[in-house]
Amino acid sequence: MVWIKPKTYKNPVFPYQRFVDQDAPTPVRHQVVIFGSGPAGLTAALDLAGRNIPSVILTQNRTVSVGNRAICFAKKTLETMNRVELGDKMRPHGLVIWGQRRQ
Ligand SMILES: Cc1cc2nc3c(=O)[nH]c(=O)nc-3n(C[C@H](O)[C@H](O)[C@H](O)COP(=O)(O)OP(=O)(O)OC[C@H]3O[C@@H](n4cnc5c(N)ncnc54)[C@H](O)[C@@H]3O)c2cc1C
Repeated sequence: MVWIKPKTYKNPVFPYQRFVDQDAPTPVRHQVVIFGSGPAGLTAALDLAGRNIPSVILTQNRTVSVGNRAICFAKKTLETMNRVELGDKMRPHGLVIWGQRRQ
């Protein structure tokens, strides 16, 4: 069993930055544009990068997740994370749940 020592985490707030495309003389086209930098968007970008497909992420978020939203990882999630080579890094930080809730 792993005990996590509680600590206060201060979310970084990243300043707004203009993207170079915004100042381009003509509209710039990208093969893939991903909206949202949550786990789905970032994983999609990593997965595409692993296939040599560049992507651009547009997000309205200026910080990382507020509060913990990933204590337990489902098997499917870990399979996906393994595919983008993050499973081994995530596993030690997750909680293992033995058994399941009965309906
Ligand atoms: C309290 C809590 C605990 C949780 N615990 C777990 C857990 O233990 N294990 C687990 O697997 N899951 C957990 N979850 C669920 C998990 O956090 C979500 O399934 C996951 O965050 C969904 O990822 P997502 O990328 O689809 O969406 P989100 O994480 O919501 O990311 C979407 C992103 O898109 C951005 N966005 C939205 N609209 C736009 C727009 N129009 N233009 C640009 N950007 C936009 C948002 O700002 C956000 O950054 C928990 C959720 C909560 C709330």
